[in-house]
Amino acid sequence: MKRSKSLNLRKIRLSYSEISNFLNYPVIALMIFTLSVTSASSTAPDTDIFNISEVAPGIYLHKGVHVTFEDKQHDDIANIGFIIGDKCTAVIDTGGSVTIGSNLHKAIQETTDKPVCYVINTHIHFDHVLGNLSFVDEHPEFVGNETLKAEIEGNRSFFLEQYLNDLGPNPSTNSIIGPGIGVTDTKELDIGDRKLVLTAYPTAHSYSDLTVLDEKTGTLWAGDLLFRERIPSLTGDLKGWLKVMESLKTLHVSLVIPGHGTTAKNLSEAMQDQKRYLDTLLTETRQAIADGLFLDEALELIGNDEKVHWLLHEQHHKANVIKAFTGLEWE
Ligand SMILES: [Zn+2]
Repeated sequence: MKRSKSLNLRKIRLSYSEISNFLNYPVIALMIFTLSVTSASSTAPDTDIFNISEVAPGIYLHKGVHVTFEDKQHDDIANIGFIIGDKCTAVIDTGGSVTIGSNLHKAIQETTDKPVCYVINTHIHFDHVLGNLSFVDEHPEFVGNETLKAEIEGNRSFFLEQYLNDLGPNPSTNSIIGPGIGVTDTKELDIGDRKLVLTAYPTAHSYSDLTVLDEKTGTLWAGDLLFRERIPSLTGDLKGWLKVMESLKTLHVSLVIPGHGTTAKNLSEAMQDQKRYLDTLLTETRQAIADGLFLDEALELIGNDEKVHWLLHEQHHKANVIKAFTGLEWE
C-alpha cells in the first residue's frame, strides 16, 4: 500500500524526481522564485576587509547573507573564515564562487602574513567549496571528510554545468578542488601553538559533514550541521542529523559558528530551533506515512507551524519534507 501511494508522484505539481539527490540545491533553485531576505548581523564587523569579524582570538568570520540561490549574492550565503596559528593559517570553507574565495584570500593576506597551510571544507555543497580554486596557488593541503573525495570526483561535471559563472575565467572540471586529506573519524591539525580537531560524521545534513574545533578558544565551526535563522536544508538523513546533534551536545564549546546564521555561545541553546524543526519533521512525517497519506497530501500538512520561525521557509521546507518522507517510508 505504502509503495503504491508514495510513488504516486504525478499528482504533485512539480517534478521532485531528483530531490533525493544530495546535491538538490540547484533543483530546488529551479523550482522557486526569487525572494531575497537578508538578516541583520548580530556581530558588527570590526574591519572593512570583506566584512571580516574577529569572533574569538585569532578566529575570523565572514558571515553569509540569507538570500535565495537565484539572488546575485547566491555565492555568498555561507559562513566562511579562517584561524590564524603561530605557524600558519587554516581556512574553513571558501564560499560559493571563485570570486568569494579570492575575496577571502585577500582578506587573509591583509590580516596576517602567515601562509595558508590548510583549506578545510565542512561538506560538499557549492556555497562551501567553490572558492577552493582561489587558494591553489598557495599550495595548502585541502582537507575534508573522507567521503568528500569521491563526492567531488563524482560531481565535477555537475558543478561545471550548474555553476559555470561562479568558477572564474575558463572554467573546467578541474576548477573544482577536492580534498587531498580525508578524515574518517577525527584528525588533529597543528597550525602552530594551536590544535584544530576535525571530526567527520556519518550522513546527517549531507553525506560529508565535518566540524572543526579550535581547542585554544573552544570555538566550533559546525558547518551546515547547524543552521540558525535560515531554514535548515536536509540533503542527507534526518535521523542521522538528529543523532549527530545529540553527539555535538557533549562537546565543550564556548562559541559555535553555524554554517548559516549568527554565532552563539551556548551550543545546546543554539541548536534548539533546529532540533525542534527536525523533530517536528520526523514526528509529523512518520504520522503522515502511518496515516497512509500521499506525498503531495503530506506536503500540505507537515511542519506548517514552523513557517514563522525561519527565513526562506517557502523556498526549502517542501524539499525537506520530501527528503524526510522518502527516507522514512520504508523504516
Ligand atoms: Zn551551506
